[in-house]
Amino acid sequence: MSEDFYDVLGVSRDASEEEIKKAYRKQAAEHHPDVSDDDDAEERFKKIQKAKEVLTDEQKRKQYDQMGHDRFTEADKRGATGGGPGGAGGPFGGAGGAGGAGGFEDIFNQFFGGGGRGRGGGGGNRPRQGRDLKTGLTIDLEAAFEGATKEVTLTRPTECATCDGAGHPPDADVETCPQCNGRGQVQQVQQTPLGRVQQTSTCPRCEGEGELYSEDCSDCGGDGVVREEATLSVEIPAGIRSGQSLRMEREGAPGENGGPKGDLLIEVDVDVGDRFERDGDDLRVNEAVSFPQAVFGDTVEVETVDGSVEMDVPAGTQSGETFRLQGKGMPRLRRRGRGDLYVQVAVVVPESLNDEQREALEAFAEAGGEDIDVGGGFFEKLKSSF
Ligand SMILES: [Zn+2]
Ligand SMILES: [Zn+2]
Repeated sequence: MSEDFYDVLGVSRDASEEEIKKAYRKQAAEHHPDVSDDDDAEERFKKIQKAKEVLTDEQKRKQYDQMGHDRFTEADKRGATGGGPGGAGGPFGGAGGAGGAGGFEDIFNQFFGGGGRGRGGGGGNRPRQGRDLKTGLTIDLEAAFEGATKEVTLTRPTECATCDGAGHPPDADVETCPQCNGRGQVQQVQQTPLGRVQQTSTCPRCEGEGELYSEDCSDCGGDGVVREEATLSVEIPAGIRSGQSLRMEREGAPGENGGPKGDLLIEVDVDVGDRFERDGDDLRVNEAVSFPQAVFGDTVEVETVDGSVEMDVPAGTQSGETFRLQGKGMPRLRRRGRGDLYVQVAVVVPESLNDEQREALEAFAEAGGEDIDVGGGFFEKLKSSF
């Protein structure tokens, strides 16, 4: 299956915007997950949406044509291409899964111009998806290890409940906008060095609605949108790393003209704590062993992120040596298996000795032929006392 956006929609490279939209409607109706039985319908549908999003945006289409599919997709993932929904978020999708419902209604609205708002025709306003919103969430290492359900609270733009997003009371008087005669768009003629240029833009008086109302909604002042606090439940998948974002579909800003809501992107920060260091899916930890343990070898208990395990320290281990405990690191995000735990051994030098230990160590040094000047002639004093 080709990935190329033109192939996905089945249009030629010089297709007009109208042709692209027509092709999109046909493909979307055929492959929408709610109506298609194909196993990969959802994947397919996302590709179709993405293709339409890029190819109907003049600037993005230009970039896409210039860069080619692979480079454009890479840049898009990094958020390097022009604004609009979908720029951020990277490869992580659908963690919340909250957006399942309403999908079919969404394309319905796209087909039929977002009816149901009682916004008389004429305006020519297309339904537009709302903005993506971003927020952050800090979790600890255990939550990242096991996966968790967390709550995020944010203040976000929400459709005004008082006016159902219309921006005016239902009984407000309506008149056709005199500036655009209800078209929602105005033509402006500009004098440029190259001659007269005619431009079409959204009517500034009615903001594209084609209608004027005698009264604005008292709660939203006519915007149809208010800011409200919302608390959402987020599924954190096991293995998530700092800086990765989870996408909750349809939890972003309200759409315009009946368009669907944008998405909410939640950037996760994992607070690893003091004990471990994290390196991708691997963890690192320091473990103290005594001098005799390092010399003779021993089995030591190592506290991992999920309980303690036994680790063999071989005879002759040097301070700073690192051992790998395979599969004792973090789980791999949305994959099987776990990273490793690297245990760096530090041989601890005792800060004080009892008499017995002292004698044994001195004997050890002497046996090895070492001549140590202990604490300024300690050995000399020792000898003279005999
Ligand atoms: Zn309102
Ligand atoms: Zn107007």
